[in-house]
Amino acid sequence: MSEFRHYDGCRNKDPDNCGACALTTIVDVDGKPGINYTAWPLSYIKNNRVIPRAFRAFLSEEFLSDNTAYVNNLKKQIADKGILIEGIGRVTSWMLVK
Ligand SMILES: [Zn+2]
Repeated sequence: MSEFRHYDGCRNKDPDNCGACALTTIVDVDGKPGINYTAWPLSYIKNNRVIPRAFRAFLSEEFLSDNTAYVNNLKKQIADKGILIEGIGRVTSWMLVK
């Protein structure tokens, strides 16, 4: 597992300006809670990081995206590399993520 990289001087509480903070913080996104970082699950897969339990509902929502190329790529990345989910472990089928 590799840590997401915060900018120098970040106090780990700056999701508006820091990608690492945005990837690990639930914020208001268009009036509802979410993760304000495009294609965030791909960053978790790439860094082999565990997706927190609190993020699971948001992960399910990613598969509802209108961007079918993104959804297909996310499914492929999960099949190829697996995705780590807190409380479940490594999952290699997107259907088990939902
Ligand atoms: Zn940060």
